[in-house]
Amino acid sequence: MNNTSILWFTEEACKDVRLAGGKGASLANMTAQGLPVPPGFVVPAYVLEQSVDAGQLRKLAQAQDAEGAQALIQRAEPPRTAIISSYERLGGRVAVRSSACAEDSEIASYAGQQETYLNTLGGEEVCARLVDCWASFFSERALFYRAQKGSLGDLAMAVVVQKMLEPVKFGILMNQNIMRPQTLLSLRGIPDLAFIQSGGGDQAPYLRIGAMTTHRSVESAALVHQMCPILASTFSLVASPRVRNQATVGGVLADADYASDPPALLHALNAKTLVRSTTGEREIPVEELILGYYETSLRPDELLVELRVPYNVERAVYRKFRSRSSEDRPCVAVAAAQVARKLRVVLGAVAERPQYFPAICALAAGESAGEEGRPYSRELAREIARRYAESIDPISDSRGSAEYRRRVIAVEVRRALEEMSSASVQFAPPTGSEEVSP
Ligand SMILES: Cc1cc2nc3c(=O)[nH]c(=O)nc-3n(C[C@H](O)[C@H](O)[C@H](O)COP(=O)(O)OP(=O)(O)OC[C@H]3O[C@@H](n4cnc5c(N)ncnc54)[C@H](O)[C@@H]3O)c2cc1C
Repeated sequence: MNNTSILWFTEEACKDVRLAGGKGASLANMTAQGLPVPPGFVVPAYVLEQSVDAGQLRKLAQAQDAEGAQALIQRAEPPRTAIISSYERLGGRVAVRSSACAEDSEIASYAGQQETYLNTLGGEEVCARLVDCWASFFSERALFYRAQKGSLGDLAMAVVVQKMLEPVKFGILMNQNIMRPQTLLSLRGIPDLAFIQSGGGDQAPYLRIGAMTTHRSVESAALVHQMCPILASTFSLVASPRVRNQATVGGVLADADYASDPPALLHALNAKTLVRSTTGEREIPVEELILGYYETSLRPDELLVELRVPYNVERAVYRKFRSRSSEDRPCVAVAAAQVARKLRVVLGAVAERPQYFPAICALAAGESAGEEGRPYSRELAREIARRYAESIDPISDSRGSAEYRRRVIAVEVRRALEEMSSASVQFAPPTGSEEVSP
């Protein structure tokens, strides 16, 4: 029997998804990484079982009796004293958020099915919303889903209580109800920011992609397939069609999420961004754009308006290693490209920003993945992979520990280089332009 009814994000045990659920464990891991996560605590999954007649609840769930299960939970007796005193340490408005333990597992994704309550004020209110979160785990919809997955007996639902902030910057933190903006500026109404064209003339041709172009447009545009097929295939690996229809090229770069797919590839391709403010515009290589976790070199008054992918990429490969579900972000991402006869290997999702080691890549000088040159030997691929694994100090998060990542890096870099030796990824001369709608 567990006695702790509260786990703070700062506690080691809070990183355990079986206790804290998907959200709770991620928040604890982010806190441990030193990310600016608003403080909070988790009411661990076992507390639900301790607060109700668990046998009866399981029976009602297995009978898919949503009404009966929810009525039983409304009579639950959560550990009020511990919850209220912990809430008082946070003070002010908090978000009370469901955090299922099977969220984002290999066989199921409960994300989005259970409730979140924002702006909750006062200890008693927090206890009431905690019970509502538990109840939402037994809604008709949630029970139907778990029936399909054969997990109706699952009572493992933790609840996160997290301080709300008055922020100045948002992004996905807003979508996840961590932050509340007072004013929002939308770029959706600017059609000039959504396009796919060739540029640069005959001298230095490149592919131009407007910042508001969606991932789905990149994935399906004929010009991208013609000029840079690796771009289309990499964007097609992002999440699900639903996400790709919304996510934009400017958004994924400005967001600077360490676990996004496109940044590592764009860095390897030596792509550049064009950014603009009221005082002028400048080019920033993707390599210099992302500085750390959610941090870029964009100035507050600058808008990213265009992505420029050079034409002198001879070969490229992108490998996305996922450790959880098939629609998940990468645990380890490897982008390898041969640009102007030089190898560029960039690792994504393993540290606060894409990882590139030119000195290690220089070991490939004189060898070439293309038909003209000698393919990379197995020994060379192995050596570069070994050195990358040695040089990177990987993070630990819910997708994998540092040690696990280090081993995956060694394997995936080698595979990327071997694949590159046989890849048919080549660029064709640019022709014409293609307008796309946002
Ligand atoms: C469920 C889910 C799964 C996902 N899985 C993956 C995945 O597997 N791989 C992956 O790579 N990504 C993944 N993502 C991320 C997703 O693809 C988007 O990149 C991300 O959500 C950003 O969305 P957005 O483009 O709408 O940008 P927004 O959310 O609108 O913006 C993100 C940030 O960038 C700023 N910004 C946006 N555009 C500009 C601009 N032009 N100039 C300056 N600043 C700007 C915004 O102010 C904000 O701070 C996932 C997202 C979700 C919700």
